[in-house]
Amino acid sequence: QFDEMVYMDKLTTIGQMAAAIAHEIRNPITTVRGFIQYIQQNTADENLKKFSPLILEELDRTNKIITDYLLLSKPGNREMTKIDIDNVLMDSIELLKPLGYYSNVSLTFESDARNAVYGDIHLLKQSLMNVIKNAIESIEDSGEVEITKTTNDADGTISIAISDNGKGMTEEVRKNLGLPFYTTKSKGTGLGSMITNRLIREMGGTVEYESELGKGTCVIISLQLYQEMNH
Ligand code: ADP
Ligand code: MG
Repeated sequence: QFDEMVYMDKLTTIGQMAAAIAHEIRNPITTVRGFIQYIQQNTADENLKKFSPLILEELDRTNKIITDYLLLSKPGNREMTKIDIDNVLMDSIELLKPLGYYSNVSLTFESDARNAVYGDIHLLKQSLMNVIKNAIESIEDSGEVEITKTTNDADGTISIAISDNGKGMTEEVRKNLGLPFYTTKSKGTGLGSMITNRLIREMGGTVEYESELGKGTCVIISLQLYQEMNH
C-alpha cells in the first residue's frame, strides 16, 4: 500500500529528472553511433565488422527508450486539441500490425460512434500503443487483441477496452504494474504503464486493469468527450 499523493509527487520528480538526463544522453549516443558507423565502413577487422551492427542496434534501442518513454514523461509542453479518437485508435493499431503479425496475434477494432476527445495527440497515441503492445506481448503462441470503443453519453465519457487472451497477471504483477522500472520481461523497461497511467490522468482520464491469470487481461481507458462549450 502506498500513499497516492506521495506516489504522484515522486513520479513528477522522476519525470523531470528523466527528461533532463535523456536530453543529455542523446548527444553522446549520436556521436558514438557516427564513429561506429565510420569504423564499420573503413575497418579490415573482421570482429569489428561483425559486431558493429549489434552495437548500432543496441544504441538505437537506447535511443528508442529515450524517445518513447523518458522524454514523454516530462510534464508540461502538451498541445491540447480536439482529437478524433477513432482515427488515433486506427493509427495506433496500424502501427502495431507488424508486431501482431510476427507474434501471431490478430488485432480487431470496433467503435460505436465517431466522436472527439480533448488531449495531446502524440501522448494519446503513445499511451494507447503502450497498452496494445503489452496486450500483444502477453500472448505466448497465438491469440487476439480486441479493441472496443464505447460512448457513455450519460457521463460524457468514452471507454476504450483493450482486451487480450494472453497469460494474465498474478496478484503480485497486478500490484506492481505502473511502478517505475517494474517489468517481468527480459527486454522490458517497466516504463510503459507508468507513462500511460500518468498521461491519461493528465488528460483527465482513468486507466483500469482487470486480469485473470491464464485467461487474459482487459485494460479500460476512459476519457472525457470533447465538449464545444468548454474550449
Ligand atoms: P514492460 O512492458 O516494459 O514490461 P510495462 O510497464 O508496460 O513495462 O508493464 C509492466 C509489466 O506489467 C509487464 O512486464 C507485465 O508483466 C505486466 N503487464 C502489463 N500489461 C499486461 C497484459 N496485458 N497482460 C499481462 N501482463 C501485463
Ligand atoms: Mg510495456
